[in-house]
Amino acid sequence: MFLQEHIRIMPRYHLWTIGCQMNKAESQRIAGMLTAAGYEEDPNLNTADLVILNTCVVRQSAEDRIVGTLGLLEGAKRERQDLRIVVTGCFTARDRTQLHKRFPHVDLFFDAGAYDQFADWLTANPLPTPPSPPAKPFFSMVESSCARALQLDGSAGVSTYVPIIQGCNNFCTYCIVPYTRGREISRPLDEIEAEVRELVSLGSKEVVLLGQNVDSYGHDLQGTPDLSDLLVRLEAISGLLRIRFLTNHPKDLSRKLIRTMAELDKVCEHLDLALQSGDNDILHKMGRGYTVEHYSDLVREIRAAMPGISLSADLIVGFPGETDEQFENSYRALEQFRFDVVHVASYSSRPGTVATRKFEDSVQADVKKLRLQRVEKLQEEIATEINAGYVGNREAVLIQGTRRGKWFGRTRTDKLVFVESDKDMSDQLVYVTIAKASPWALQGSLD
Ligand code: SF4
Repeated sequence: MFLQEHIRIMPRYHLWTIGCQMNKAESQRIAGMLTAAGYEEDPNLNTADLVILNTCVVRQSAEDRIVGTLGLLEGAKRERQDLRIVVTGCFTARDRTQLHKRFPHVDLFFDAGAYDQFADWLTANPLPTPPSPPAKPFFSMVESSCARALQLDGSAGVSTYVPIIQGCNNFCTYCIVPYTRGREISRPLDEIEAEVRELVSLGSKEVVLLGQNVDSYGHDLQGTPDLSDLLVRLEAISGLLRIRFLTNHPKDLSRKLIRTMAELDKVCEHLDLALQSGDNDILHKMGRGYTVEHYSDLVREIRAAMPGISLSADLIVGFPGETDEQFENSYRALEQFRFDVVHVASYSSRPGTVATRKFEDSVQADVKKLRLQRVEKLQEEIATEINAGYVGNREAVLIQGTRRGKWFGRTRTDKLVFVESDKDMSDQLVYVTIAKASPWALQGSLD
């Protein structure tokens, strides 16, 4: 009885997140703040007292989902006046007056990563049933000089995202990110190291360093440390088993970083290196700042330094004016580079970007769809072949949880592995012999 009453009086939040890993990292921190303040997570958007949408506008389809969800919440708020609705992420980087006018049922729009704005609002707008005494007062959650500092709730996942640089200075012509997240701001080395040490003390064994372009980390800090310097610092942290980082920009990824990756034991053999197009004229129109030849040299050097490394890449099909021949160049590049994973997207015109202002979105939707399907089919074939090469291997797998009755985790090369076992393997590093492979995942058994 007591338990039921206790559960009933806990205010409940639902956190809805779409978009990139940066958004996921920020949601981890928002969840940490709310838990520390006595809130309880509600997996159901319809029963939560507080709904937070962490948004992405990189593609029109993402924006449509946000508007659709806000429409649903408008109806919910009519029925439940005390429902609180908060929106953060890239959707909020536009005229706030217009946003409030269009979505009057939203209580707060706050900038991506601006936890202090959220904490101030939360303090000033307590729910009718006040939360139980916070484990940490709000001020301590935002008192750091860096508003992006970790908000800890007393626990940490086995693998945790750690933002190291916010924003982007590149202005690729199709991309809205520099307008929504602003210019690059790196977090100081000491601050990141302290955060990772704390995460490890709370249970994390792997960190994933995040940034729109991690390769420009540190250029704005005193002494201009770079990503290699940060990796060396984190390598020394006892208890930390694995370090990953993303996303890399081929224009900025340095030889020094390749050497450092190869030298450090904890840095995993996986690299996310956006290609975007296999055609030099399209790359130029995209403002990417490299050629296919440069990219090819990088891949050769990376694979020479770390044989067996897995590579993933992003690719856009149907960029304005992309001809059949230019698409075929992208297709051939995929055949040449043989990535482990390709995140392919059809070009989507985003208001405010250079591409939208300068180029007509001229490739027909059905042509884009066909190109997308061809890339997906090719990539499925390549991934099938690559993953088949894992069968019989003994792989170190960091277990992250269970799904459909099986344990799952990742290899150092970021392959998803499923394992059947009655043992409790939560958060353990286990050795698995791979028995089966598909384009998307591996399956195996414990040694
Ligand atoms: S590097 Fe280009 S695609 Fe990536 S966030 Fe910056 S502007 Fe966007």
